[in-house]
Amino acid sequence: MWSALGLIVGVTVLSIFRDIVTHFIDDFKYRVKSRQPLSAKHRSILNKYSAYYKLLSTADRALFERRVQRFMFAKRFISRGVGPITDEMRVLISASAIQLTFGLTEIYLSNFDKILVYPNSYYSHITKKYHLGEVNPRAGIIILSWKSFVDGYADPTDSLNVGIHEMAHAIHFENRILNEEYDFLDIELMELLKQITAREIWNIRNLDGHFLRDYAATNAYEFFAVSLEYFFEQPVQFKQEIPDLYELLVRLLNQDPIRIYKLAS
Ligand SMILES: [Zn+2]
Repeated sequence: MWSALGLIVGVTVLSIFRDIVTHFIDDFKYRVKSRQPLSAKHRSILNKYSAYYKLLSTADRALFERRVQRFMFAKRFISRGVGPITDEMRVLISASAIQLTFGLTEIYLSNFDKILVYPNSYYSHITKKYHLGEVNPRAGIIILSWKSFVDGYADPTDSLNVGIHEMAHAIHFENRILNEEYDFLDIELMELLKQITAREIWNIRNLDGHFLRDYAATNAYEFFAVSLEYFFEQPVQFKQEIPDLYELLVRLLNQDPIRIYKLAS
């Protein structure tokens, strides 16, 4: 009787000990990996597919690569019917997050540790609708349809980019979540953004032919996410149409796509 109990206790203690050791080994592996330079294979993926990365200076490219590497090894990429997660998925999804945060101090969206990748649009049990992407701050999940993600970057000037859109949501939430990355967006600028958002949502709902698509008027979160799609994909027109919002986003994210893409404004 006692020996059976002793055996159960022993096995339990051993399995807890094994879990702790595994956790520390995984954590150590991540730390080592995340500080290694981006591999040549991963760099070639950026070179091939990231228009943003290709336009950066040599010094900024090195910085971008380092941040992509850290982001990539901080997240668990989980396939939801898309087959094995590929290097392209890891690198390019990480690059879309780094693109948005590149002007800021290092932000890795630490609340979101899981990235779920679906092949196409998927049914969300939360909203009871089909989605191309979604973020769930409580569960720490960013969800993307790989087809929509690729389509978003395939046409870099149509202002439809689900990668930018979902990462914008993640940044917006991350800024409000009490963790080590809390309040990284300037408080005064965020206050000003609130005012401009209210003004422009009214304009979209009440005036014809607004520069931003109607979906931006859904709420302040969608307004921010849609605005960033236009900010990166149609910056010149954006600056002409809503100059105060464009300038505000330049200051908030500390980067100007017109300059990065070397466009004439
Ligand atoms: Zn959205």
